[in-house]
Amino acid sequence: MGDAHLQARCTNTIINNPIQIANTSLMIYFSTNKSSIPVSLKKATLEGLAPDGGLYVPSEIPRFSQEEIALLEGASFNNIAFAIAKKFIDGAIPPEQLSDIIESCYTFDTPIVQLDSRTFVEELFCGPTLAFKDYGARFLARLTGYFAAEEEKLITVLVATSGDTGSAVAYGFQGIANTRVVLLYPSGKVSPLQEQQLTTAGGNVHALEVKGDFDDCQRMVKQAFVDPSLNKSLTLTSANSINISRLIPQSFYYAWAALQLKERYGFSASLFSVPSGNYGNLTAGVLAKRMGFPIGHFIAASNANDSVTRYIDEGRYEPRPTITTLSTAMDVGNPSNFARLRYFYHNDYTSMGKDITGIAVSDEETVTTIRAVHERFGYVMEPHTAVAFRALERYRSLGNHAEEPGILLSTAHPAKFLEAIEDALDKKIGIPSNLQELMEKKKNATLIRPEYKELASFLNGLDQ
Ligand SMILES: *Cc1c(COP(=O)(O)O)cnc(C)c1O
Repeated sequence: MGDAHLQARCTNTIINNPIQIANTSLMIYFSTNKSSIPVSLKKATLEGLAPDGGLYVPSEIPRFSQEEIALLEGASFNNIAFAIAKKFIDGAIPPEQLSDIIESCYTFDTPIVQLDSRTFVEELFCGPTLAFKDYGARFLARLTGYFAAEEEKLITVLVATSGDTGSAVAYGFQGIANTRVVLLYPSGKVSPLQEQQLTTAGGNVHALEVKGDFDDCQRMVKQAFVDPSLNKSLTLTSANSINISRLIPQSFYYAWAALQLKERYGFSASLFSVPSGNYGNLTAGVLAKRMGFPIGHFIAASNANDSVTRYIDEGRYEPRPTITTLSTAMDVGNPSNFARLRYFYHNDYTSMGKDITGIAVSDEETVTTIRAVHERFGYVMEPHTAVAFRALERYRSLGNHAEEPGILLSTAHPAKFLEAIEDALDKKIGIPSNLQELMEKKKNATLIRPEYKELASFLNGLDQ
């Protein structure tokens, strides 16, 4: 571990809303495809995808003035989160309720660990499922619950998952009134840890173990969304990563890190290295920069699935079939959030390239990096984080960036990718006690065949 630790001072309380933000009128959201009518945040959240197949974006990205930013320097994570959320949500949720929502979302720390004088790791894995998807899923769950209560509805969240998204959704919606979750996962095709996370939330979260593959799960879910008789009795929604209410909260940790480094080291424009798959994470960073937080450049760190990094270099977007790598959560051939990222840059790759440098990292480099980082800093890094570290190193070797201070986003806890790390380091590393507890919880899943009628009958059998 680096000698100086920058421990986040997350108090998780909002003290009399010390940050006064100018009131904005109710923000509207429109589709990146531009042919659906603009909607409220409530509708965008409950719908997920726009009717024209596009992704919802805010009509305007809210700006923080220099004075507002200065007031937020040294503020707690939750205070910063509140200030940002308020700008996007003001009018849709009263401030007191919004502050309660933020407090119940972020009950865990967001530590920033220093490796050397110019390299920092923002650890986004302290939430219940040990990955950064908790930041988005917990916020989305609470907003969905809030809006569902307003509409006096019970919302059924239906998701097909191959692992990480499903667990963040399961634990995000656990115990949230007016919501319940039904998740479908392919039997025998998720890791034991993922299966525990998918099947042990209990309460309003139901797991269906499908005797088929991920494509079967996805097909069944799609069919449910277009089944008229089912949609008469249930209000279905999806909670996938294109939901705008999963994107907004991911800007919180960019603002938090940039403000922390500004306050402590005087960094006026932090550089972020972002391990990317569907590009939701990076898009949220762009939002934070446009809002006016002290952020300079981004590195889009990818693995061999490099369709976006190539686009940034060459201006041609050629999605490809997915390639399997060590950083599995980034194995995406045609990233879903790329439409939003492009939209924010008016489809202009040269202007995107001014803010973002794309760097693709091979599996071989990933392994060497896990080893080198462990040797140099005594820090254990899982494969996704190692991709971001390596991309930052490569960026520094280009042009005159050698001395640039940078933050890499660590998107998962090492314990989630034990095997890859143990292979790279050639030694055993233990798992934390809370994971041990999770592994001992009783699995609760309903086994079904990969046939739509089995899913329909399960859904019809739920309490109305
Ligand atoms: C989902 C995920 C990513 C990729 O994030 P995107 O927002 O899809 O780019 C990276 N690392 C881990 C561990 C993930 O679970």
